[in-house]
Amino acid sequence: MIFAHDTEVALAAAAALVNTVDGEDERLPDLAALDEFVRTWGWSGQRQRTAKELREVRALRPRLREVWTAEEDRVVEIVNELLREAAALPQLVKHDEWDYHLHATPPHAPLATRMSVEAAMAFVDVVRTTELSRLRICDYPDCDNVLVDLSKNRSKRFCESGCGNRAAVAAYRARKAATP
Ligand SMILES: [Zn+2]
Ligand SMILES: [Zn+2]
Repeated sequence: MIFAHDTEVALAAAAALVNTVDGEDERLPDLAALDEFVRTWGWSGQRQRTAKELREVRALRPRLREVWTAEEDRVVEIVNELLREAAALPQLVKHDEWDYHLHATPPHAPLATRMSVEAAMAFVDVVRTTELSRLRICDYPDCDNVLVDLSKNRSKRFCESGCGNRAAVAAYRARKAATP
């Protein structure tokens, strides 16, 4: 394990959130899609289920995406800004099946605030351990998805949306074509 479990989960969730938009392709088009996303990533806490909530969650994505591409000093600015805006207050909590982990927002804070602070707290760990190089853009041609490399040998190159398989298939075809 590279980071604490809750940090790794938070990084994966933040990457998944960033990857819900790809140019014109909007994978959080409505509240039903947001519900599904929240369920998939096990978000607890209060929901408003309003257009505003959806708007705020969508607006968070470009800010989080910048963490994957920015230099360290800029990442620190973004992270501190996210924590400041939410007046984050770290507290150890235990709920559902989860053992003690950090929450830095109360359960009734807006969903986008809870998402941004959870991501920011995870980025804190990444910066503190000088592991920002683990946050990268997918290597597959024309894929702009972000990825979190939690492998021991830093070997992850592709995002979670099937680019790894696509690359393997392309490599196989290329090998086959090269065989006389
Ligand atoms: Zn929790
Ligand atoms: Zn990809």
